[in-house]
Amino acid sequence: MSEIDKKLESYLEFLCQKAKELGASEAVAISASDIVVDERVSLKCMVPLCSFYGTNLMCPPNTKPISEFKNILKNYHAAILIKTASFGTPEELTDPGVDLSETWDTFKSAGKKQEQASTPTTAYLHSIRDSLKNQYKMMSEIESLCIREGYYFAAGLAGAGCLLCDECVGTKSGLPCRYPFKARPSMDALGIDVVATAKKAGVQVSFAQDEARSWVGLILID
Ligand code: SF4
Repeated sequence: MSEIDKKLESYLEFLCQKAKELGASEAVAISASDIVVDERVSLKCMVPLCSFYGTNLMCPPNTKPISEFKNILKNYHAAILIKTASFGTPEELTDPGVDLSETWDTFKSAGKKQEQASTPTTAYLHSIRDSLKNQYKMMSEIESLCIREGYYFAAGLAGAGCLLCDECVGTKSGLPCRYPFKARPSMDALGIDVVATAKKAGVQVSFAQDEARSWVGLILID
């Protein structure tokens, strides 16, 4: 982190500690230049097609184009990468033979009735969602701390499309976001290669069926 001055460096240490107190399993300070942006990430929003694509306000094509984000990123010096506590392994929590992606689409849009169901699969989907909500809370608290300290360009990026509502208002409704101060764009939406960035930071990200999953978020700081 050679381009980060001493004052910011010690503040980043404080923020990492704070993130852990707020529930992060890992929090690591990195140089903004270590954030990997790759155009292929946006292709993965469409191949296979993510159900958030075009329907979630915090996902493409409703977010900034990658080229624009790359230019924005050039002006940042530092960031902290935050990994949430685990929300379990797909293997241990889902019903055998369940297609999680199809179940997830139903869960997202079915509202309270579906939410009350208590199969291992819905329990797992609840864990995913609760964990992401905790990540938004953590980000918002850390952003506020940064702003009070004078780092007013602090901006949190979440680990996935926004799950704060059962169903996003989307763009076609013409309605504004229900939680504009809580919702954050996903890193992937802006073209960040989360796996490569986490690897550079020494944070492990795994997609194995039998390994615990967590969300990884990023807070840009300047
Ligand atoms: S808070 Fe609700 S309306 Fe706003 S982006 Fe998230 S899901 Fe959509």
